[in-house]
Amino acid sequence: RIPILAVDGGATKCLVVCAEQDGSWRGEGHAGPGNYQSVGAEEAEQNVTLAIHEALKGAGIQEPEVDIALFGMAGLDTTHDRLIIEDLIKNALRRNGVQAQEIFLENDGFAALLGATAGHAGVLAIAGTGSIVFGLNTEGKSARAGGWGHRVGDEGGGYWIGKEAIRSVLRAFDGRGPTTHLSALVLETLHFRHPTDLIDWVYSDSYTIAKIAGLSRVVGEAARTGDEVAKTILRRAADELFMAVRAVVDTLQMRRERFPVVLQGGILQNEALVRSTLTAQIMAYAPSAFIDAAKLQPVEGIIAKGKALLQEKGSR
Ligand code: BGC
Repeated sequence: RIPILAVDGGATKCLVVCAEQDGSWRGEGHAGPGNYQSVGAEEAEQNVTLAIHEALKGAGIQEPEVDIALFGMAGLDTTHDRLIIEDLIKNALRRNGVQAQEIFLENDGFAALLGATAGHAGVLAIAGTGSIVFGLNTEGKSARAGGWGHRVGDEGGGYWIGKEAIRSVLRAFDGRGPTTHLSALVLETLHFRHPTDLIDWVYSDSYTIAKIAGLSRVVGEAARTGDEVAKTILRRAADELFMAVRAVVDTLQMRRERFPVVLQGGILQNEALVRSTLTAQIMAYAPSAFIDAAKLQPVEGIIAKGKALLQEKGSR
């Protein structure tokens, strides 16, 4: 038997952890993207299945009974998404022979927030491949902003930053924008020779969201060497994330309250310029807020939520 099966299904990777009632890890599994909006339901299901399989193997258990299976899934943005994802996770559990007594399914950001603040008021900003902001106030009301996927949303996330990098290269190539080290760096990273190779690639089958998001690292590198275009992209990423944080804080009327803001995801963890710009903006807007820089990984937040739900169940 396994008390907690926690699944963090992000846009770039799935992480699954089998945990004890006290939250200690017994096994973990990794696989590729879990966001069906970016890779399709079939591939997302395969990845979730695979990561669960690996986690069970790590824990040395086959076809277990699970007290609670918790899923924090990127791409869960609408009721329609919920139906598709419910289906996908049920298949993934079934294919691993898992009998789950209870299933908890939420958006990756919301699940991580519930765990990260242990159900208390707070705000979580995630900028990984995608981006989203969630908040919870003392009355238990929640709100979200942004996170509408790579095609029309996710401002300030890795995909958005990567896309802006490519756009800057094209601007410089045309003479519409300033020259930038990004031109050489982006082409080098993708093993291309000419800016128009980028166009051939983005409209081909080998184009992936993960590869575009991967370019955010190049933007970080260029920014650190002083490239103004790269620095501007990262500052704009922070501005976009701040607008989402402000929207959530306003909706929940938390501006004058004291609450933690947790910054999560590869961009907010690794890109100091994004983090510091965003932090300064938040502190100026809501001076009693404090930054709680990603004490918990999202999956640990999900495990914490599992612990809380099991405790609640036990005391009922
Ligand atoms: C997805 C959201 C998700 C966010 C952060 C976006 O692309 O649409 O559901 O919460 O990324 O992972």
